[in-house]
Amino acid sequence: MKKIKTQDCPFCGKEPYHHQTKLMTLRYKSNPITMKQPGYWCDACGEGVIGGEDRKTTQKELQTFRAEIDTAGQLF
Ligand SMILES: [Zn+2]
Repeated sequence: MKKIKTQDCPFCGKEPYHHQTKLMTLRYKSNPITMKQPGYWCDACGEGVIGGEDRKTTQKELQTFRAEIDTAGQLF
């Protein structure tokens, strides 16, 4: 019997560590943004590893967000 793609978590050693999309809140100049970040996330401890490809999927959104904050900052 083959298991679905789960691995042992490198942080807590438990198994529910698999590729999934998780809502993640980042901050830029104290402005929060919530993004759907794909990556290897652990359901047990909440730690995760975001690979290069996973990072690319949110990179553009993040760049746009940063540009908006920088533009808004210049108005004051
Ligand atoms: Zn874990």
